[in-house]
Amino acid sequence: GFKMGIVGLPNVGKSTLFNALTKTAAAQAANFPFCTIEPNVGEVAVPDPRLDQLAEIAGSKQIIPTRMTFVDIAGLVKGASKGEGLGNQFLANIRECDAIAHVVRCFEDGDVVHVEGRVDPVDDAQVIEMELMLADLESIEKRRANLVRKLKGNDKEAAVQDRLLAAAQAALESDQPARSVVVDADDMKQWKMLQLLTQKPILYVCNVEEDKASKGNAHSDAVAKMAADQGAGAVVISAKIEEEISQLDAEEAEMFLGEMGLEEAGLDRLIRAGYELLHLETYFTVGPKEARAWTIPQGTAGPAAAGVIHGDFEKGFIRAETIAYDDYIACKGETGAKDAGKMRAEGKSYIVQDGDVMHFLFNN
Ligand code: GDP
Repeated sequence: GFKMGIVGLPNVGKSTLFNALTKTAAAQAANFPFCTIEPNVGEVAVPDPRLDQLAEIAGSKQIIPTRMTFVDIAGLVKGASKGEGLGNQFLANIRECDAIAHVVRCFEDGDVVHVEGRVDPVDDAQVIEMELMLADLESIEKRRANLVRKLKGNDKEAAVQDRLLAAAQAALESDQPARSVVVDADDMKQWKMLQLLTQKPILYVCNVEEDKASKGNAHSDAVAKMAADQGAGAVVISAKIEEEISQLDAEEAEMFLGEMGLEEAGLDRLIRAGYELLHLETYFTVGPKEARAWTIPQGTAGPAAAGVIHGDFEKGFIRAETIAYDDYIACKGETGAKDAGKMRAEGKSYIVQDGDVMHFLFNN
């Protein structure tokens, strides 16, 4: 599954948010209980009303949402790349994530100490980014030194790696993150395998005062502008509100959100923003036993999409029977869609579309 690492300076509200998200998920996704894998790792169900619609039409006994993992990565402080704070352990934690949810403090509260003694989320964001850039630089230097011998032996793969590492190094040395490097499509796979911290896409999570949760404040506006300049994502959230929601059942939560002038909970917005940032989408498998959602990157072809369910589905892929979500709903299910000619047979080159209801045929 996809993994979001929650980072940020101390006292910005990371743990409050993490605990609230995971508790909310537990309370509201009764059919997919939130599970704590480790104290700081939580899997949440991705809310998707389409799945409930499909299950209702098909009379599915069970509804299984797709999941996203959040990791609360504490210990990122100024000097972290030099081993202060929790040092290297959390850098390793970030390396394993697909994206970074970077929580910045946008709330004023004299009772909550700010490590730098003032509220300035844009500057805070740069402090963290700087640590990640320094950590990347250090790891690049080590890795390039380790490649020297292979390069002398004319190892082709090593040459590509070294060229890409050099490009990242040049960017970092001029104070730009690795994600600013423009990479050829041919190099993309190798580039991703470098696993640099500043390659990861960033979603800024602006933690604002409770009464600013719907529109944000001047601090979150500044972060949104910075995010836009960087091509990053940004969402406004109140960790305190999320904490309160986490203690309510679904119905109470909806009422509470209404009172606060919010259309949906922070969890939903955060997950949706994460999907957009990572260019992810969802397809469905629907039957009387279960209706289930699956996550794939946009542009995934049939066999690879099937592989998310099981490796054998990918290996033995023959074709897929596909019904677009809207057709499935309009025709009131599979039989209706088939009768209306809306069920398509798609081959290996078919690019699965968001919302597709898929049935894979494969050889064992
Ligand atoms: P972390 O160190 O980033 O994990 O921060 P915590 O989640 O532990 O929060 C640090 C302190 O800030 C706690 O006392 C929280 O109650 C408080 N806090 C977190 N979010 C908010 C918020 O939105 N508003 C206010 N006023 N306090 C908050």
